[in-house]
Amino acid sequence: MSGVKVSRSLLELPKVHVHAHLDGCYPLDAVQQLAARHDAGFEVPESFATVWDFFDAYGTVPALVRDLDDLRALCRALVLADAALGVRYLEPAIEPQLYAPRLGSLEQVTGVIIDALQEAAVEAGIEVGANLTVNTDQDEELAAQLARVAASFAGHGVTALGTAGFVEPAGLKRFATVADIGRDAGLQIVSHAGQTGGPDSIREALNDLGATRISHGVMAVLDSELVSRLADEHIVLDVCPVSNVRLGVSSSLEQHEARALVAAGVRVTLNADDSLWFGNSVLDQYRIARDVWGMDDATLAAISRTGLLVPGMSERTRSEYEVSLAAWFTAAPG
Ligand SMILES: [Zn+2]
Repeated sequence: MSGVKVSRSLLELPKVHVHAHLDGCYPLDAVQQLAARHDAGFEVPESFATVWDFFDAYGTVPALVRDLDDLRALCRALVLADAALGVRYLEPAIEPQLYAPRLGSLEQVTGVIIDALQEAAVEAGIEVGANLTVNTDQDEELAAQLARVAASFAGHGVTALGTAGFVEPAGLKRFATVADIGRDAGLQIVSHAGQTGGPDSIREALNDLGATRISHGVMAVLDSELVSRLADEHIVLDVCPVSNVRLGVSSSLEQHEARALVAAGVRVTLNADDSLWFGNSVLDQYRIARDVWGMDDATLAAISRTGLLVPGMSERTRSEYEVSLAAWFTAAPG
């Protein structure tokens, strides 16, 4: 065997998946089955000419969901699919506002999503949290309402309060009191920044919202002082390589910013963002890290270990995760 490069199974590497928009990550077959039940079709475009085309397409999936049973079925399908990829802790970004008030109040829709995720988590033998996400393109009043719903589910399935919005910086200070509602309830504040926005958008998220985790954050590479701060303060960046390339944020997988960030000591997790639309799972992101970026198993294990910094994970899952990560890394490659 000498000279033959062997490596450990990425499927067996324990993984977190914590930047996964629920409605953009339902498995394709589950969405197609739902569409067929409603005499509709569903296809994923080969590419998106602009990011606005992507947003238009994104909205077609919630539109297929006609009742709360449809929603339950899609949530279950996502949990089972991710569990089969070696995900031990899944924390999807949920936006009940995509379904309320059409299917019920924000509280009702949130409750249905949480129940479906939790039931599927038990079935799959993994842990599932939820990052209830406010859209910064919408007004502060709805955001505050959502934050109060998130707070009421803290300790009962909701583990984080997030902000998302493609246009960055989005004047995040407007949402400072919204973030306070989540933080006061014990939720981690997770903010989209450093995707279309530059380093200043990340500073806004950290300074104005008190975010301790950043969704994307890859544009931090443009500012070495910020990179040092992220590393020193153990701010986790939930990075999504394929999404960045598909939406034109990064020029190529080869040139993706994550490699430099990891080398500089920034903690990153690898995620799919919207696997339904980009056709790449969370597992595929690890394959890219190994095959395209040339990361060795020690580095991949370190990325997996970053998942332990996500506070939504329970102590029980944390200790099981550590044991299986240690077993993965000490096992001989084969
Ligand atoms: Zn995202």
